[in-house]
Amino acid sequence: MEKLLYKPNTGKYNFLMAYPAVEEFALASLGYLWLFKTADTLEGINAARISVDNMSATPENIDTIAFSMSFDFDFLGVFKILEKLKIPFLKAERDETSPLIFAGGPAITTNPAPYEAFFDFMIIGDGEESFTQVLEILRDNDRNKALELLNNIDSVYLPGKKVKKAASALNNVIHTPILSDKSYFKNTFVIEIARGCMNRCAFCTASYTNLPFRYYEYEKIKNTIDFGLENTDKIALLGAQISAHPDFNKIMQYIRTKIESGQHIELGISSLRTDSVTPEMVQTLVLGGQKHSTIAIEAASERLRKFINKNLKEEQILNAVKIARENGLKGLKIYSMIGIPHETKEDIDEFLRLGKILKSENKGFNLEFSFSSFVPKPQTPFQWSEREDTKSLEKKQKYLEKEFAKLGLSAKFSSIKWDYWQSVISRADKTFAPFLIEAYKKGGKTGAFKSALKSTGVTIKNSYNREEDLPWDMIECNLQLLKNEYKRLCKFL
Ligand code: SF4
Repeated sequence: MEKLLYKPNTGKYNFLMAYPAVEEFALASLGYLWLFKTADTLEGINAARISVDNMSATPENIDTIAFSMSFDFDFLGVFKILEKLKIPFLKAERDETSPLIFAGGPAITTNPAPYEAFFDFMIIGDGEESFTQVLEILRDNDRNKALELLNNIDSVYLPGKKVKKAASALNNVIHTPILSDKSYFKNTFVIEIARGCMNRCAFCTASYTNLPFRYYEYEKIKNTIDFGLENTDKIALLGAQISAHPDFNKIMQYIRTKIESGQHIELGISSLRTDSVTPEMVQTLVLGGQKHSTIAIEAASERLRKFINKNLKEEQILNAVKIARENGLKGLKIYSMIGIPHETKEDIDEFLRLGKILKSENKGFNLEFSFSSFVPKPQTPFQWSEREDTKSLEKKQKYLEKEFAKLGLSAKFSSIKWDYWQSVISRADKTFAPFLIEAYKKGGKTGAFKSALKSTGVTIKNSYNREEDLPWDMIECNLQLLKNEYKRLCKFL
């Protein structure tokens, strides 16, 4: 069952908001749902939602389709939807009778180059303001005039132009506009409290593509919490670094007071910031029904943590786990990476040393290490860096698996092969369009990517030279800042 928390509008302009994965995730994606609500409340627009597994809302005549792309592999879902709609993938193969097709979201904002051949245009950066502008242009103009006008918007990318990332001033709090029991976060009212992150870890797009760090006013958040709780008893706070909100403790206290006065509230927070975990924070989470949480340490050796600008001392990690355990959480996931440039055997062994200490200090507490492998991302100080060879990473993974098992500690790993293809796609250029199509047609598994590589003959670059042009150069970005930061961080090696 769905509950709409706004009053929809309607009209003659048929707009499809497409999510390139299953509906369960679409209904949990705050950015996607918020933009859908924006379209659904605009006068003259008949907005419908579709996802790869539910296209029943598709109208007979579609004027425009927008895709929200959060992840590098979302192009597979885009192709699946276009195929079901019988629309050619390549825009060069579509004509004036075809709907206009555009995209936005984190994957597009990080690097639109590999998707140029598929979309008529793309929105770079925050969508809340530009999206309305785009929809109004589309609704009020014919196709050619609309494209001409869209070309004048700084944050709209059409091939051949420079584009400026939109950064919203965060005036209106973004929150779940549709509650659903089909959502991955069942009937949960998600509230964004901050955007970006002040930490600027050198690999992190959540921080670097969302500069500067911004947050919503406390009073507005409070009112949004009240609004959410009028409609459900499940709320979640969202942001890459929510505890950096200057009023974070006040926000938590506000929720805690409600729980202590007898209101039933289930509270969700995706992860805790390791250097600022407090007993009150954990207690509020536990009161709100949370049993487990996550902290991110990224690397076990202090040397590497400094190099990636994750300025976290070991005692802060030990302290965070202790506070989590002593204040009622049942367990903690410790997120980290392997394959950070310049990683040595000693750095890898630091995981075992740290694991041993954590285990002995926290008997009976459910600790799990969760590893992924480093993926160099555009628009970060590591955008030029080399990705470590898959075989070498798999060797490290096997070693850690074996040694963690000996310690009696749980360790989970992301797929190194998938991480590799992610690193390829995230830094790809526009020549990759046929490769993406082939990878999809061959089934979209890792073997399909390998075979698409052979059949299309695209060249993969495993690192970039600091002086050469980059595929994502069309996005205005302070290159000097990234270069200087990399140079500064190298001093810690
Ligand atoms: S703390 Fe997390 S969100 Fe912030 S920059 Fe580092 S990795 Fe990114």
